[in-house]
Amino acid sequence: MAKLKLALYWAASCGGCDIATLAIGEKILKLAEAADIVFWPVAMDFKYSDVEKIPDKSIDACLFNGAIQNSEGEHIAQLLRAKSKILIAYGSCSYEGCIPGLANFFNRQMIFDRVYIETQSTDNPEKVYPQSKVLVPEGELEIPDFYDTVKTLAQTVDVDYFVPGCPPEEKTTWLALETLIEGKLPPKGAVISHSVKAVCDECPRIKKEKKVKKFYRPYEIIPDPEICLLEQGLLCYGPATRGGCGAPCPQANMPCTGCYGPVEGVVDQGAHFLTALASVIDSDDPTEIQRIINDIVDPAGTFYRYSLPDSLLRRARIK
Ligand code: SF4
Ligand code: SF4
Repeated sequence: MAKLKLALYWAASCGGCDIATLAIGEKILKLAEAADIVFWPVAMDFKYSDVEKIPDKSIDACLFNGAIQNSEGEHIAQLLRAKSKILIAYGSCSYEGCIPGLANFFNRQMIFDRVYIETQSTDNPEKVYPQSKVLVPEGELEIPDFYDTVKTLAQTVDVDYFVPGCPPEEKTTWLALETLIEGKLPPKGAVISHSVKAVCDECPRIKKEKKVKKFYRPYEIIPDPEICLLEQGLLCYGPATRGGCGAPCPQANMPCTGCYGPVEGVVDQGAHFLTALASVIDSDDPTEIQRIINDIVDPAGTFYRYSLPDSLLRRARIK
């Protein structure tokens, strides 16, 4: 049987998803039997021009990680869409925008001011900002245009499947690869994960009636190792997050932060978590409710940590 031709790419991301693909351990031998890697710039020296030359749809599948934050990411997304039979948004940045997507609380100028002028370690008295094109004696140099708004891969090109996680757990990565190798493809648009239910469904912590009088940040308390973290006032995103990861974070005494995205059928993960939180606050008194929710530091960044570009909000409106 002919081997699959596989491509991997990163746009706006941290590199964790590329490392996560290697977390499949010895299964990499099975992958090597079944597939050849034809493009993976983070690991090997490929040129974009090599990809431009190959016929359309000649790559069987592309695992694309990273959000779209500049013109280079957008160009390569379009190129890999044209060259790939199957395009997979691999990992939270590509699927929902994730941490790079928090840039949507600001705009390009605010980000440039912060990075190139205001940070304590920056020495830039002439206020030099990056330019997309610069003339030098040797000719014109060009770097990608940085966008005002971060987009998901699916807001940029047509996407066939989504793999959740920041980064995807090893078993989720292998599920996606096995699906490709065996050709047992789910319906277009599916999220490839072991669960359509919430993280709470696979979390072994004891759940009773949740009544919260105060929210804490993880460093403020040592939680009981058996009881649901949300019942103890920690902002655990488990009720609003797709399972399939195996709930490693709550089992390690850390609240789930929501990296596997929304549960099946939910459009806006942040709004879903807000609803879950509203139902556990133990008071009818508006003043006390206000005091309790005032404990939540950076609510927008907390509720939309992974999903701002993919949410109903998409970005902040900046005057
Ligand atoms: S809220 Fe968190 S700790 Fe509680 S059951 Fe759900 S995942 Fe587990
Ligand atoms: S428990 Fe939550 S934060 Fe941890 S891996 Fe699962 S979805 Fe991600």
